Amino acid sequence: MKLNIHEITCDILVVGGGGGGIRAALAARGQDDQTSIYLATKGKLGQSGVTALACSDRMAFHATLPHTEPLCEDSWFYHARDIYEIGGRVSDANLAAILAANACEAFEYLLKLGVPFVTCDGKTDQFVTDGSHYARACYTGPYTAVHIEQALVEEFKRNNIGLLENCSIIELISDNEGIRGAIGLLESRQGEELLVVNASSVIMASGGGGLIYADNVFPRGNSGSGAILAYRAGAELVNMEFIQFGIASVKTRLNCSGSMMRAFPRFVNDQGREFISDYLPEGIDPSDLPGLIFRKGATWPVSYEHDTRIIDIAVYKERKNGRKVYLDYSKNPRGFTYQQVESALKERYRGEIKNEISLQEREESPLKRLQEINPDSVSWLEKHGIDITSGEMVEVAVCAQHFQGGIKINDRGETAVRGLYAVGECAGGQHGANRPGGNALLDGQVFGKITGAQAALRAKQTEARAISKSEVDIILEKVDDLYKSRGLTASEYLSRLQKIMSSCAGVVRTAEGLKEGLVLLEELRQMPFEMDSSGLVQAVELPAMTTLAEVVLRSAQLRDESRGPHLRFTCPTDNTPLPRRDPQWQRYIVIKEISGQAELEPREPVKQFE
Ligand SMILES: Cc1cc2nc3c(=O)[nH]c(=O)nc-3n(C[C@H](O)[C@H](O)[C@H](O)COP(=O)(O)OP(=O)(O)OC[C@H]3O[C@@H](n4cnc5c(N)ncnc54)[C@H](O)[C@@H]3O)c2cc1C
Repeated sequence: MKLNIHEITCDILVVGGGGGGIRAALAARGQDDQTSIYLATKGKLGQSGVTALACSDRMAFHATLPHTEPLCEDSWFYHARDIYEIGGRVSDANLAAILAANACEAFEYLLKLGVPFVTCDGKTDQFVTDGSHYARACYTGPYTAVHIEQALVEEFKRNNIGLLENCSIIELISDNEGIRGAIGLLESRQGEELLVVNASSVIMASGGGGLIYADNVFPRGNSGSGAILAYRAGAELVNMEFIQFGIASVKTRLNCSGSMMRAFPRFVNDQGREFISDYLPEGIDPSDLPGLIFRKGATWPVSYEHDTRIIDIAVYKERKNGRKVYLDYSKNPRGFTYQQVESALKERYRGEIKNEISLQEREESPLKRLQEINPDSVSWLEKHGIDITSGEMVEVAVCAQHFQGGIKINDRGETAVRGLYAVGECAGGQHGANRPGGNALLDGQVFGKITGAQAALRAKQTEARAISKSEVDIILEKVDDLYKSRGLTASEYLSRLQKIMSSCAGVVRTAEGLKEGLVLLEELRQMPFEMDSSGLVQAVELPAMTTLAEVVLRSAQLRDESRGPHLRFTCPTDNTPLPRRDPQWQRYIVIKEISGQAELEPREPVKQFE
């Protein structure tokens, strides 16, 4: 079946309509009103991607504002240092400095667009998030990202920028002189069409690739294909082994952080057994568990640098052993009494009380405590189909939430391909192994502005060059082959891919497991597959998703230490990860495609902040 072909020519094509992509398009427009700009997005603008759809108990946007601690002229420097140091010194310090130094301006831009950030005593309220030293997290509530997306979409509509909705970019075209444009699939009620976009600049803003994992909290469409299109066009990837994981509800995808843990729930398996103590490393006593669970509330992502990883490792292993895992709020954990909780934790608990109850009630159950410190989460769960007031339990898994690495960028958001820029979660080098919460939303705004302005400058000097008919024919043929191909259904192929990744490159990584993952992936790659009800785009993207999985596995294989969410073990039954190796591994792994093969090179990051 041959598709109809449409062709457009423009100066700048932005791929992705999340926070990063929209900000980049607006910045390009702000730089020059004569530049022709198009933004292509899967689905409808404002209704696809993580920024538009994600929520958690309180989503954070990090910014160093004039009243942010430590209240000195260079407070932003402490922010930059947190990104770099807490990140594990495997990111570029100059990019961390750019993020921090521009955070206040990015925040004020969003405020001007009407994002309803919460204030307290006339000042923007800020709190401390996972892994940062000062309170920098600005928020609107559970929907901070959604509010940011909505405000950006409104501003987008006020500007003259071409919009290509339901348009998935499936190939980037480049040569020695740089990027020449992209080819996409346009979906409409009438079916699919091929769209050829000749552009002198392309800004990749396609988000993270959480869908390569079986357990993830990403929306549909976040395949990570954009990073691989850039890689195949000649860009480098970096830090691909660092994927943020954390405990989330399987049914609702809610991150179970904060008060969900501070209520001291029971972790049980599908046989009703409290299992965490089966996986305790040497030196940890079961009596330490309540404290660990409580502290998990403030250290949601898995990290080698936090002992609360013990909880994630136990949940991950229990599920890998074939049992489902639940949070039970109906009964206290075995042997638990609130009275015995250490006083520092009680102090923090008291600071969270919203509807105070008697001491006796507080002793009764995690449900009573959750109702005391965060009644909204109880009603939120009920609204989303889990009624914990009637004893229903919350099924959880350790889910992929954020790609800390991606397409390697420099301080101008440029990649190794001239005219190709990357921004937001698909970009890499600005975050390290750990990403202090709140810096991803910030990243899209700061580098969105930078890449948009850079692409607009390039537009003044460079003409778009046409993509040739033979280049289009190659893509047409690939798509045509998919219509005819027979084999595994695309959904079954994806499900196998996800199982390989969750099993071999999830929370527990071993040399053996990573090697096996690569073998299984290669076997899968050889299997023919056919399109099914999941659609043409899903089928077209499977090879890119397979390559994404491969670069994650290979980077994880090379890094034979633990750092951030990358936990390496000698064998799967070990409960203690291999140590972090400093300073030897204060290097990031850069991946480049050479003659169709992934070449990995550990490289020194930029260590100077300026
Ligand atoms: C549950 C959850 C909670 C989070 N909490 C926080 C938080 O509190 N603070 C924080 O800083 N970060 C948080 N994050 C991370 C943060 O929200 C994301 O990193 C950020 O929103 C990503 O923005 P983006 O613009 O890069 O990508 P996205 O918002 O994911 O947008 C990607 C866009 O690209 C489009 N797209 C993808 N592929 C293609 C293609 N091939 N062709 C065309 N279009 C394409 C998609 O449709 C979408 O429009 C959280 C993430 C999750 C999942």
